[in-house]
Amino acid sequence: MFQRILIANRGEIALRILRACRDLDIDTVVVHSTADADSLPVQLAGRAVCVGPPRAGESYLNTAAILTAAQSAGCDAIHPGYGFLSENADFADACAREGLKFIGPSGEVIRKMGNKAAARSLMRAVGVPVVPGSDGAVADATAARRAADAIGYPVLIKAAAGGGGRGMRRCFSPEELEGTFEEARSEAVANFGDGEMYLEKLILSPRHIEFQILADRHGNVIQLGERDCSIQRKNQKLIEESPSRALTPALRAAMGEAAVKAARAAGYENAGTVEFAVDREGRFYFIEMNTRIQVEHPVTEFVTGMDLVREQIRIAAGLPLSRRQEEITLTGHALECRINAEDPRRGFAPCPGTVDFLHLPGGLGVRVETALYTGYTLPSFYDSLCAKVVVHAPTRLDAVRRMRRALEELVIEGCTTNAALAHQIMYCPEFVRGNVDTAFLERNLDTLLKWCDTGEEGGA
Ligand code: ADP
Ligand code: ADP
Ligand code: MG
Repeated sequence: MFQRILIANRGEIALRILRACRDLDIDTVVVHSTADADSLPVQLAGRAVCVGPPRAGESYLNTAAILTAAQSAGCDAIHPGYGFLSENADFADACAREGLKFIGPSGEVIRKMGNKAAARSLMRAVGVPVVPGSDGAVADATAARRAADAIGYPVLIKAAAGGGGRGMRRCFSPEELEGTFEEARSEAVANFGDGEMYLEKLILSPRHIEFQILADRHGNVIQLGERDCSIQRKNQKLIEESPSRALTPALRAAMGEAAVKAARAAGYENAGTVEFAVDREGRFYFIEMNTRIQVEHPVTEFVTGMDLVREQIRIAAGLPLSRRQEEITLTGHALECRINAEDPRRGFAPCPGTVDFLHLPGGLGVRVETALYTGYTLPSFYDSLCAKVVVHAPTRLDAVRRMRRALEELVIEGCTTNAALAHQIMYCPEFVRGNVDTAFLERNLDTLLKWCDTGEEGGA
């Protein structure tokens, strides 16, 4: 087992990894930018190393400084968390060259699945259904136009290097194709430094359903059931749950099998997520694979009783998976709300600020993942995710009730968050019935915001 792990991340996920290391009796070194010098992970880690100024490009993405920090602190492995360097194949390769174990798949596998257009081709080749779309990348607007004509409108123009819901635009007619294509491409270049684009058929109001997989070095691949992440805003997840109301046991088995097949085809090792869109007829299509720990992993931890970060570390150390497929049972229902420091009333503009007072919910079946503390100032340079409230209960309705209770207890004074909106969603009849698709929020936002204004649950 590793002796000392460097955590190349910040915020709640850095803390999550730090805790897993402590549970395993592994020393921790956390890197940070100057903007995060007073962060909770920095205070709790065995050692903290400043690797640069606030801008992520010069700190959390500063591979040279991070590798040097790992070497000089005597680390034997690096955990990248999510975002930042987690899906950077060159970084994974550099770790290997430096004799540091990257806690995740190899650079080769990250590269293979990181280009979403190439991953589609691989999936198609092994018989995992993909969304109908372009054959690989489209070079320019003219090629996109040809591909869209063949696919049939509406289409979704997507960045091959995309992530976090960025670099993607819907297009409903040939007239708007060129403009939309260029818009999506410039967003991709700005965010990922890569303008490679591809097209998919736009599935109308699908469910987003993803499968958690684990794979070790000994050829074992298992799936830990699904997460329904259909509550999204601008293709970014807001609320996640497991199990999904949309899956019959037969569909769950078929999708789980496809997820394992996808992981095997990629030659996968470590924790990963295979994402699917499920249409109204219950057909499922691969959309991408995330080769890292996912924001919403606690949902799966609740229903399976497994510690996924611990599994990641064990796998990286060469140990076999701690459970076989037959030993995985899903118990009860789990729900997660992402609490972002943003103002839903002002177009979800980020609202960094100082936390004057903090009260976190607790009690049976409640888990909060956050690096906030009273007096902490949220820096404006990073993601607005500031807490995850996760609940577990015997049934979905119990979980919804427990989430209402948890969100009522949550107090974050000093910065505006989306917590009241999440709370109102727990009272929305459509949501309570489990009738959700990726258009849910768009459809209900105005009503939900009105309910927030009244301050009454469900507006009444
Ligand atoms: P998840 O896929 O785990 O549900 P998100 O899509 O919200 O989570 O992404 C988690 C974080 O990682 C966000 O900060 C997001 O901006 C970042 N991220 C995801 N994919 C990429 C990528 N390809 N490049 C850069 N950042 C990414
Ligand atoms: P990212 O890498 O940014 O996470 P994804 O390819 O996973 O991008 O897509 C993000 C979200 O966009 C999905 O969760 C889904 O809601 C929506 N989406 C993606 N592809 C399609 C599609 N072909 N049709 C309809 N919605 C889609
Ligand atoms: Mg995705």
